[in-house]
Amino acid sequence: MTPPTIYLDYNATTRLDEEVLQAMLPFFTEYYQNPGSSHLAGLTVNELIENACWQVADFIGGKPDEMVFTSGATESINLAVRGISNGKRDHLITLCTEHKAVLDTVTDHAVKNNLACSILPVQNDGLIDWERFEEAITDQTLLVSIMLVNNETGTIQNIKKISEMVHAKGAFLLCDATQAVGKIPVDVHELGIDLMAFSAHKFYGPKGVGGLYISKSVRKYLEAQITGGGQQKNRRSGTLNVPGIIGMAKACEIANKRMDHDATYVKSLRGHLENKLLEIEGTAVNGSVEHRIFNTSNILFKNVFSEQMILSLQHISVSSGSACSSVTTEPSHVLKGLGLNDEDALCSLRFSLGKGNTKEEIDVAVQRISGLVTQFRKE
Ligand SMILES: *Cc1c(COP(=O)(O)O)cnc(C)c1O
Repeated sequence: MTPPTIYLDYNATTRLDEEVLQAMLPFFTEYYQNPGSSHLAGLTVNELIENACWQVADFIGGKPDEMVFTSGATESINLAVRGISNGKRDHLITLCTEHKAVLDTVTDHAVKNNLACSILPVQNDGLIDWERFEEAITDQTLLVSIMLVNNETGTIQNIKKISEMVHAKGAFLLCDATQAVGKIPVDVHELGIDLMAFSAHKFYGPKGVGGLYISKSVRKYLEAQITGGGQQKNRRSGTLNVPGIIGMAKACEIANKRMDHDATYVKSLRGHLENKLLEIEGTAVNGSVEHRIFNTSNILFKNVFSEQMILSLQHISVSSGSACSSVTTEPSHVLKGLGLNDEDALCSLRFSLGKGNTKEEIDVAVQRISGLVTQFRKE
C-alpha cells in the first residue's frame, strides 16, 4: 500500500476547498452563459459576477471598480509593471528576494523601454534595508514593487512604512500579496497600496484566476496589456472566467470566516514542526523568525542537499525554493539574497503548511526527515 501524501507545500498551491468546488459547478453547466451577453440569461450571470467582484474587492478593502480579474498573480503583475507610465518618470525599484514573476517582468520591461531599474539587496533576515531603499528612491522613481509575504521564507515586509516613503516621493507602490491574501488580513487602504496582485489557488480557490487591485489614483496611468472585446471597462479584455471568479469569491468568503481559526491552528503545527526539526544538529531557520507568516518555515540542513531529500521523501511533499524553479538545481535567489552561500542555499527546505495538515502528519514527516539527514551525512 502506498502511504498517503503528506502535503507540506501549500505555498506552491492548495487543494480546492470542497465548498468552493460546489459553488463553481453550476457555472460550468446551468449558468454557462457569457456575462457580456445582453440576453436575460447573460445578464443573470453578469449579476452574479458583479456580486463576486464586490465580495473579492471588499475582502481586501477595495471597491468593485478598483478590481480587475486576471488569470492569476503573474498576469496581474505583468499588467501593473508593463501598463504603468506617467510619461515623465523612468525608474523602477524592486528587491532581489521578490518572486520571479516580479523580478523577470521588471527587468524585461526596463530593458525593452530603456528604464532605469534598481534591484535592491535585503538584510540577512530578508527584511528591507531602509538605508539602501532611501538612497535608491528619487523623484524619477515611477514604480516600487515589493511583496507583502515572501513565498520561500514567509518574511513579512513593513508595507505601510514602505508605501509612506514611496508616496512621499510621488511614486506608486505595487505589492505582490499572493502569499498574504486569504491567510492574514490585508487592507489596501491601511497598507497604502496602489496596485496589488493576488491569486485564488494560493488560498483554496481554483487555479487560473486572480486579481489586480487598481486604486482610483493610479487608474489613469495604467494601460491595458490585453486588448480586444473591451471587457472589464477595457482594462483587461477577454471573456470572464466565470467559474473561476465565482470560486475565488467563495474562497474569500471562507477565508474571511475562518482566518483567525486557521491561523491559530496552522501556527501551532508550524511551531511543532520547527521545534522538532531544530533539534536535529546543524539546522537553522532562514529568514526573520519574528516578521514571518504563520505557515512557512524555511530550514537549512547543513551538508544535506535538498534535491536529494525531496526525492527520498517521496510521498512527503516539500520544496526547495519556489515551485516554479524547482526543476532547476540552481540555488534559490531568495536564500542567496539573504546572504547564504550556494551550498547552504542548496541544502535548505521550505515547509509550508495549511489547514489540511495534522499533528500526526508533522510527526511522521519529522521522523522521516531526521532519519534521512543522519543517513545522508554518513554517506
Ligand atoms: C504563486 C505566486 C505567484 C504566481 O502566482 P500565479 O497565480 O501562479 O501566477 C506570484 N507571487 C508569489 C509571491 C507567489 O507565491
